Amino acid sequence: MEQKTILLDCDKQQLKDYLTTKYDVKPFVANQVFDWLYKGADFEDMSNISKPLRTLLAQDNVAKSASIIKTLTSDIDGTQKMLYRLHDGNVIEGVLMKYKYGNTLCVSTQVGCRMGCKFCASTLDGLVRNLSAGEIMGQVVAVNVLGQGKRYVDNIVLMGSGEPLDNYDNVVKFLKMVSSDQTLNISQRNISLSTCGLVPQMLQLAEEGLSVNLTISLHNARQQGREEIMPIAKKYSVSEVMSAARNYFQKTGRRVIIEYTLIDGNNDSYSDALALANAVRNMSVHINLIRLNPVKERKLRATSDTNANKFLAYLHKLNVSATLRRQMGVDIDGACGQLRRNYLEQG
Ligand code: SAH
Repeated sequence: MEQKTILLDCDKQQLKDYLTTKYDVKPFVANQVFDWLYKGADFEDMSNISKPLRTLLAQDNVAKSASIIKTLTSDIDGTQKMLYRLHDGNVIEGVLMKYKYGNTLCVSTQVGCRMGCKFCASTLDGLVRNLSAGEIMGQVVAVNVLGQGKRYVDNIVLMGSGEPLDNYDNVVKFLKMVSSDQTLNISQRNISLSTCGLVPQMLQLAEEGLSVNLTISLHNARQQGREEIMPIAKKYSVSEVMSAARNYFQKTGRRVIIEYTLIDGNNDSYSDALALANAVRNMSVHINLIRLNPVKERKLRATSDTNANKFLAYLHKLNVSATLRRQMGVDIDGACGQLRRNYLEQG
């Protein structure tokens, strides 16, 4: 079977070139198709496009690159978890978190992940494949249409499954497209890219002229301790990651955020807090603490509420800007990545 073309991979000009060349359509028709794509329409819904053309387009192209197949909504805080199906049958998940200042959508950048972090469910089966730029966009489009004409996705975090910088070109292409006024016009300042610390790509990203926020999944500021929970730490040391983070701030002026998942007895002692404070000294950073979401396939346990607050107090005493993130959607959220796994296991 011939590979289908994901139309959301194209920007407006590329789509125009592609459709006018391949199907001999008028440029204004290409623009109509482009508008439909961002309304989350499938070909059959494109009512101002002729039926024969719709049929033709559907044969070798994909309009909805990510289709929502299941939504769970939290009774507590309105958080929504989505399962999406991709055109090849792969399934990914996403989360929409509702805050006072707007809705934040967490998107996936890969099916699976090859980074092997010991606490994470997304990496249990390794990397299945990269998502294309249009498949990352498809997640935003699919959720945005739930706003019924009003913008529903205000902020984006690249914190779903996958390591964004391990899929560098597609992710950068997505960042440029989604922030363009021809598409969803989401400001780059409202987008955060989270990485486990791929140093060369962090340095490269600093040169792209983007103003997206960078989040570093540090989780342990001590080299040996970090290696125990994050295999990537053997390749890039804590100090290399932190200096790449400093460089990102210097080049872009965007403050760096450090993610720190608290794991019982692993990274939550006073000396861990001290190491963390030392690692971020003289940096413009904020630390986001989150208690581990236990993953049933893994043995690690979450730090207790009391100890998490103690850890936070240590950091404050050491003059480090930090907050303990409240967990959202706890009633629908087995753990990060668990919705997809449950779905796959049940077949
Ligand atoms: N690969 C990227 C983005 C995906 S994970 C990265 O490493 O940053 C998004 C965030 O969730 C990361 O900080 C990750 O370490 C964290 N995370 C993964 N599994 C978790 C779990 N079970 N509990 C709490 N946080 C988790």
